[in-house]
Amino acid sequence: MLLEKERELVVEYGKKMSADRLCTGTSGNISIYVPERGLMAISPSGIGYFDTRPEDVVVTDLDARIVEGTRKPSSEWALHTLFYKNKPHIRAVVHTHSMYCATFAVLGQPLRAVHYAIADAGAAEVPCTPYFPFGTLELAQSAVETAGAGDAVLLGNHGLVACGKDIAGAYSLAQNMEYVAELQYRALCIGKPNVLSQEAMADVMERFRSYGQPHGGKTGY
Ligand code: 13P
Ligand code: ZN
Repeated sequence: MLLEKERELVVEYGKKMSADRLCTGTSGNISIYVPERGLMAISPSGIGYFDTRPEDVVVTDLDARIVEGTRKPSSEWALHTLFYKNKPHIRAVVHTHSMYCATFAVLGQPLRAVHYAIADAGAAEVPCTPYFPFGTLELAQSAVETAGAGDAVLLGNHGLVACGKDIAGAYSLAQNMEYVAELQYRALCIGKPNVLSQEAMADVMERFRSYGQPHGGKTGY
């Protein structure tokens, strides 16, 4: 089976995503890219995460040609492939409909630096695209364009995309963005959050470079 390890990881992280309530039902999707082979393992469309087996995960190239697998790939295949084409450092993409990120996506408002953990996205703000229907090239293009240099972006009236240098990093970024979004929501309910300055955020990003163990293979905050 091609990309066996990556397919197993897509299944493992899909279950995590469901159990951690980052997605409801079959919403959301996950992919892992192996540049040496020019191939990506992507979750199948519309199959529950606890029903998905490694052989249900679809292996495609970045032009969405199916190389191995009998299932239909995620309807967001263009979103995943465009991120790999535009961000050479990334190896995994996680798309969620997590509640608090989706709340700000419904408002069309960005996540802001209400907590320094937003620096995990490599930016002081996580912007939001306008609304486009799911599974469209327009949505994919807008997501990549809106994300800019950052590794996370909100999809208008939809959810979140988080990119990482591996699946653990992309997944923990999705969790961290949900944490920041929940904090932003809660703070706005009772007051006016203090938003950290550009200088403070630049300092955090510098500190993140040496955060954790020196050779610990750190994959996110
Ligand atoms: P898929 O089941 O096709 O991956 O679609 C879920 C989704 O979140 C669409 O944006
Ligand atoms: Zn979606």
